[in-house]
Parts: sequence; C-alpha cells; structure tokens
Amino acid sequence: MRGTSPTATHCPYCALQCGITLAVQDGRVELAAQQDWPTNRGGLCQKGWTAAELLTSPERLTTPLVRDSRDEPLRPATWDEALERVAGAMERSRAAYGPDSVGCFSGGGLTNEKAYQVGKFVRVALGSSAVDYNGRFCMSSAAAAGTKAFGIDRGLPFPLSDVAGADVVMLVGSNPADTLPPAMRWFEAGRERGARHIVIDPRATATARAAHLHLQPVPGSDLALANGLLHLAIREGYIDEDYIGERTNGFDVVRRAVRAYWPDRVERMTGVAVQDMVAAVRMLGEAHSAMILTARGAEQHAHGTDTALGFLNLALALGLPGRAFSGWGTITGQGNGQGGREHGQKADQLPGARRIDDPAARAHVAAVWGVEADELPGPGLSAYEMLDRLGTPGGVRTLLVLASNIAVSAPNRDRMVDRLGALDFLAVCDMFLSETAERADVVLPITQWAEEEGTLTNLEGRVLLRRKAVEPPPGVRSDLEVLTELAERLGRGKYFSSDPADVFDELRRASAGGTADYAGISRQRVASEQGVFWPCPDDAHPGSPRLFAERFPTPDGRARFHAVHAQEPAERPDAEFPLVLTTGRVLRQYQSGTQTRRVAALAAAEPEAFVEVHPYVAAEAGVDEGDVVRLRSRRGEAVLRARVTDSIRPDTVFVPFHWGGRAAANALTNPALDPYSRMPEFKACAVALTRLDPL
Ligand code: SF4
Repeated sequence: MRGTSPTATHCPYCALQCGITLAVQDGRVELAAQQDWPTNRGGLCQKGWTAAELLTSPERLTTPLVRDSRDEPLRPATWDEALERVAGAMERSRAAYGPDSVGCFSGGGLTNEKAYQVGKFVRVALGSSAVDYNGRFCMSSAAAAGTKAFGIDRGLPFPLSDVAGADVVMLVGSNPADTLPPAMRWFEAGRERGARHIVIDPRATATARAAHLHLQPVPGSDLALANGLLHLAIREGYIDEDYIGERTNGFDVVRRAVRAYWPDRVERMTGVAVQDMVAAVRMLGEAHSAMILTARGAEQHAHGTDTALGFLNLALALGLPGRAFSGWGTITGQGNGQGGREHGQKADQLPGARRIDDPAARAHVAAVWGVEADELPGPGLSAYEMLDRLGTPGGVRTLLVLASNIAVSAPNRDRMVDRLGALDFLAVCDMFLSETAERADVVLPITQWAEEEGTLTNLEGRVLLRRKAVEPPPGVRSDLEVLTELAERLGRGKYFSSDPADVFDELRRASAGGTADYAGISRQRVASEQGVFWPCPDDAHPGSPRLFAERFPTPDGRARFHAVHAQEPAERPDAEFPLVLTTGRVLRQYQSGTQTRRVAALAAAEPEAFVEVHPYVAAEAGVDEGDVVRLRSRRGEAVLRARVTDSIRPDTVFVPFHWGGRAAANALTNPALDPYSRMPEFKACAVALTRLDPL
C-alpha cells in the first residue's frame, strides 16, 4: 500500500458511526479516533480500534466464485462469467415464474446510496416486489411505533449529546455499555451533574449495574410494565394535562385502558416489585427533563410495536417529547440502521420513507426514476415471510443477498438454511465467505467500508460521509457496480449509475417531500458541517437536530396516543421447555460476526458463543461454570458453554447471536411476527437446558 495522509471517515460497524481517521504508513493502515466527531469525541470501542484489520484480512474474497452444480465446491471465476450466471438465472426465473420469483435480501449496513439502489434495482430492473432487508429483524417495531405516534420514524429526535442534559434517563431493553461504549460518556456526564438513570432489562448488564435503579422483568412483559408505570403516573399526579390537551390526541382511551394495570397485578405479570415501579415513576415524574429510550430488548417481540407504543404513551403523558433534553427515542443498532430503512429497500416503502401504496409517492418516485408509476410493483412480503417461502410455488426462486448473513441472523435458522437450499439460484455479495455465501451458487467479492465512498445516517438522524481511505484489492467491485452491471445485462442499464455521488443526488430528489427528506443535504454540506440532520428540505435549511418543539409531523400537528394491552410472548415456558431464552449482543462481536469473528483480538477476547444461566438453574441441571450444555427449543438446538451468573433471572437464559453452526442462537428463536412491523420474536422463546459430556 502507498503511504497516505490521514483521511477522516467512520467505523464500519454500529449506528454510533464513530469518527475515525485512517492513514497508510510503511504499508500498514493506521487507525485513530477523531477527537472532534460529535458522537464519540475521541472514544472508540475495541471493535473500532481493531477495524483496520478487516482491510488486510487474509480471508478476504478477491475473486468471484461459482459452483457448477450443487454437489461441487465453489471455484474461482471471472467477473464476466459470474455476472452472466446471476443475470441468466434472474432471466430464467422471470421467464418461468414471473417477476416476483426474483428478489433481493439486503442489509442495514449498506450505505444510503446502496440501500436506495437495491430498492430501485428490484423494482425497475427486475420489475419485482420481492425486496426486504435485515433491518426488519432490527428496527421495524420502533419504526412502526414512531410513525404511529409521531408521524415520523427517526430513532433519536435529538442529538445524542442531549442525554447528558437529561435529569432522568430510562433505558428499556438497551445495554449501551456493551453495544455503544463511547456513547456512555454522555450518560456519565449526566451522572456527574446529578442525573439519575433507570434500566429495564431481564439481565443485570454493565449498563444496569451502573444505573440508580434496575427493574428486571420477565422477558416479554415490558408492555405490562409500561402500562403499569403509566397507571402509577396517573395515580401519583405526574401527568402533564396541559401538554396532553394542547399537543396530543387519544389520551382518554389510554387512561381508561391502563386502569386495569394496578401495581399488584403488574408485579405478578412482570416480576418487578411495586416499590421499584413507584420509585421509577417518581424519578420520571419529578424530573425537569427526562428521556425514555427503548431498544431491541423491548422491540424484538411479536408485540414489539405495541410495547414501544406503551413507552411512547408514558413519555407523552409526562409531556416529554419536544421538551428540552426530554422525549422518547429508540437506539438504532446497525451501522446504517436509520438510513437503511429510509430509501426503499423495505418491502413496503419507497425513498423518503414513503409508503409504496401511496399513489402520490409512487408518481413522485417514478418520475425521478424515469418510469411510469403503474410499472412499479406494489408492496412485497416482509423479510421472514419472503425467506420462509423461498423455493416454494409463488415464492422467490432466484435470490441476490447483499450485506446480510441469513444463515446466522434470521430466526428459526434451520428452516432458513433449508429454504436457502430450496432456491433455484442463490447469489451473495460479500467480502468474506459467510455462512450464507458458503451456500451460494455465485459469490461476488465486494469492496468494504474504507475502500469506497458513501453516506450513512447515524442513530441521531445525522447524515454523514464515510470517505474512501485506501484502495481496494484488485479483483473486487462495489455493490453499486454489481447492481449496475446486472441491470445492463437485464436490458435496464440506462436507469442506473454506479457513481455514489450521482446516486446520492438522485436519492435526494427521490426523498424530497417524504418524511425522511434529504433534498437539501448535499455531499459538500455533509462533509463540511459534521453531518446534516434530516429532515432538510432545501439547500438553505439548517437541518433538524431536534424535532417536535412546536408540532408533530402529523396532519393536525398533534402526537397520537394508542391504547395497547399486554400480551404474553407467542411461546410460554411449559414442562418440556421450562426456561425463557432471550438473545442479544456482546461487547466484542457485531451482528452475525462475519467481520468481527475474523479480527484476531476480538476472536481471542470473545471466541465462542455461551449461555448465561442462573446458579439455581445450573444447580438443578448439574451444570458448572464452563460446562457444555444443550439448549433445545421447538425449532432446533444449540450446543454452548455455560456461564453461571446471578446477573440473569432464574427463569431466563441468555445467548448472544453472533455465531453460526452448532452454537447458533437463532436455531432456537421463534419467528412469531408482530402484526404491524412483521418483527420476529427474537427476545423470548421457550427452551430446555441439559448438560452434555465435555466436548
Ligand atoms: Fe464502531 Fe460502534 Fe464501537 Fe463506535 S461504538 S467504535 S461505531 S462499533
């Protein structure tokens, strides 16, 4: 590698998108933290500090791979041969089964430009409705709840640094100490000025241990708890009647609905003691400023949208959204989890976070794309529903996967692997041979984060520029080039550009007038202003770091309450499966582990999956620390090493989901879907635990 001066860019991993610099010195890539980037201010977690290793990994794919038959191994091929095979398979499926037999499954790590181009490729080049992405498994319930209550889906409606100014912060199903470590500076700054923090989590995580109050409910009972807290807030006189009257609709129905959630009953439903609920409500009710922040622990449920709405109701009743250092927000996980859900790779959306069944939205986007509105397909199936039908009559027969590792990250993993095997043709774009790529007919090696330029939108709604800092290895191409080359082979090349600057300009026009409006966000502004917050409808607009100060983006300007009732998880423990499994992330791994399991320091620090077991359960099963155990659910099993800890409830076990093979947490998880968001229930299913002989 040639020597270079430092280039300011961003971490390849999570939604904090920490600012880093990369420089090449003596053939080595040197990584440093940007001291002045607003979210991390010089801090990085271990994943960020070691990210440069991805750029020189010996496991990097640099040649397309093809398989001549399902019985033969992948072999190297030219780009021409590989792309011809993919385009040919797409043509054959379309001819034999119709356009919806070809689809794409993509990811929340894609840049805005790529997320936009995937949605356009499927609808314009393939004429298909079959597109969805792994954010359906991540942010979809929060997105649905935010849209229902506020008329807009932006994770945090304020800059992250506002956390430091809040007198009370309640975190629900969120563990930023492990998932976003540099963000903890804002929590710590608040604590230093006397702020108090409440954590709701079935595990005593690092975040919960540092909080002033930890409520430890049974997994899946958060909505009962939210309604119980609102019941208490009404009883104790903490609700803001002026705010409710002037800025909201629908509170009376909610007030009546939560009458049934009296404290003793909620204690029985959740396992949280009445005095802890009262303490939490008093902290929130007596604060000058307060935030309620939900995350996947509350949202990845078959009733995740209602659960997020339950906490939104509480925030609205306390008069928080729009007040300084206050409000409801959701903490995004994937690198472009926010932008990735705004530009059309969702089955039911067009760019600008527009509904695909809205005639005005279709007409606007079709005009930008240069096609007729009636050429655009309607809504497709959500992620799990699409994957569950792969290879079946009426389902997708040829699938292109980008930025996703379905064989590790989808729920009901064994079924998903079975469905991938039932496809006529599977093509995967990846930089490593992931568990999904291993199963492909064609693997296309693509550029990664620091080898290309693109914009992302972080957890605050701040659009930022990830700059190119190093040259990619010979033999790889960008996802945008792959989509353009495929479109050309399908006779639709004139509609596509592989230049990220061109694509971003088109995205801005396509998003204009939508709720996620990027029209005024030029790449020059993004680069010179430390990012720009959407909505930003024109070049003169300053961007929108804080939302809702005067009105909500609903037709009447008011936020909407929703009466929501607690429901149990789709699967409850019973005699055969007596424990509740909940899944999540650990500090030194990221998502399906495709990248982080290949970084030496991270693999050494967190080499394998494990199951957290309470000492009571361990004693009953004859399990000691480090023993190998089998977890079984109605869908599959996983073999894991036990970590015996009293940080988890005795009725609950926890497994991180970063590993595949015999240790895959998602072999166990339940694909029961939320009725609004189509989110699967990753966070609660019934399992049985038994000790195995040593491995
Ligand atoms: Fe990267 Fe997220 Fe760690 Fe920051 S917190 S260094 S963005 S993984």
